[in-house]
Amino acid sequence: MKVFENHTIVSLLKEYQKVWALGYASSVLGWDKNTYMPPKGAEARGAAVGELRALKRFYMLQLRHLVEKAEKEELNDFERGVVRVLKRDLHYFESVPESLIKKEAKVTAEGYVTWVQAKRRSDFRLFAPKLKEIFEVEKEIAEHLGYDNHPYDALLDLYEEGLTVKKCEDLFSIVPKLSKLYKEVVGEEHPLAEEKYDRDAMYALNKYVVHILGFDFSRGRMDVSPHPFTDGIDINDVRITTWYHEKDFRRSLGAAVHEFGHALYDLQIDPALARTPIGEGVSTGVHESQSRFWENIVWRSRTFVEYFWNAISTFLPFVEDYGKEEVYKYFTVVRREPIRVEADEVQYVLHVFLRYKIEKELLEGSLEVSEVPNRWNELFESLFGYLPPDDAHGCLQDVHWSEGYIGYFPTYAIGSILAVQIRNAMEKDTGAPEQLVENGNFGIIRKWLKEKIHRWGATYPPEELVKRATGEPINPEYFVDYLRRKYCNR
Ligand code: MG
Repeated sequence: MKVFENHTIVSLLKEYQKVWALGYASSVLGWDKNTYMPPKGAEARGAAVGELRALKRFYMLQLRHLVEKAEKEELNDFERGVVRVLKRDLHYFESVPESLIKKEAKVTAEGYVTWVQAKRRSDFRLFAPKLKEIFEVEKEIAEHLGYDNHPYDALLDLYEEGLTVKKCEDLFSIVPKLSKLYKEVVGEEHPLAEEKYDRDAMYALNKYVVHILGFDFSRGRMDVSPHPFTDGIDINDVRITTWYHEKDFRRSLGAAVHEFGHALYDLQIDPALARTPIGEGVSTGVHESQSRFWENIVWRSRTFVEYFWNAISTFLPFVEDYGKEEVYKYFTVVRREPIRVEADEVQYVLHVFLRYKIEKELLEGSLEVSEVPNRWNELFESLFGYLPPDDAHGCLQDVHWSEGYIGYFPTYAIGSILAVQIRNAMEKDTGAPEQLVENGNFGIIRKWLKEKIHRWGATYPPEELVKRATGEPINPEYFVDYLRRKYCNR
């Protein structure tokens, strides 16, 4: 079957190649910035990326007439997907003035530098004036984009098509249950967290594990970065990173598996969609559901430890003193953890909820920037039952606000919640994925994900894709049930 047949769409995609190439270049520059670029290269890199973005805007706007023409013609699902995605991009570029995009770039560049200093000194007052400016700019962007009910809706939609405050409220309706569960099961850190590992051996184990899970090193790389990430530069060039901390091997291996999940999504998109507007993951939340699926469902399982035991104990011989069950407990321990990126699957969504509340309140004006640390601590204490030690471990811990990523956090909750719904849907077709892990049947898992989610790229909007893949809209109750089964009475 030919994916793109309509003549207008074919012409449109031909014109789109300039936009694609600019995105491709920005993607390589972004990967390099986060891996090997020397610190002093940052200034020129920022300027170059800004120019590429302006060029992208210029070429995007030229596509308007072809998009409008195509929209009136009879199209298949893929072609409709192309029109939908391009209309979203056009809406952004046509609504938000170039001057405001430049202002955003300037404010966030300064914001990032100020945040780094403020976090180092754990002094929110240093960051407060910049944060105020950033929220003002983002609110202005929201006004230009337009919304029905809440300015936050306009920003949420940038990361997760169709997401609104109303839908977030539904998603976060499970927060009281999660908070109660967390307080029931929270315990002490596992002694394995103190075991030092050999860095080369750790690298070899990470490489072995992602290879066995299905990462194709002829189409990807695995590097080191201060924060793990995935960059899908092209369908045949998908790069992941992980981190190394001398001890606590769970962090390095868990991140490698998490990023593998992101990478597999990009690697399994239908090659016919490459270099088109729908040749990438459909949304931030659906992308995160793929990384969380491999991290939470596959990696945090007894069967994973069982299947990989020979490899783990060969590369990290100290695990022999503990045994398989202790390694599983170490992977799934629930402990007091004020830092979101270190949080386990039981408390993770609570950390996200806290940020959602603060973003929403700042945007609607019911909270002042100066009140953020107090509000943070108040929410944190009610969710977790204790206070973070300082602002560096509280409201200053995340980079997102300094970069202007307002509306991004809720997609992390979507990722964790959706991963479980996907697990349950998969179970009906293939049997429990945890059982497939026991026999190393990762190919069956990959195939299911490819057919139901990956191959489609951004053809369908996220909510439609979720319905097609799992048979129903996103339902956070599955997540609570899963956590109860896994963490209560064990
Ligand atoms: Mg991720």
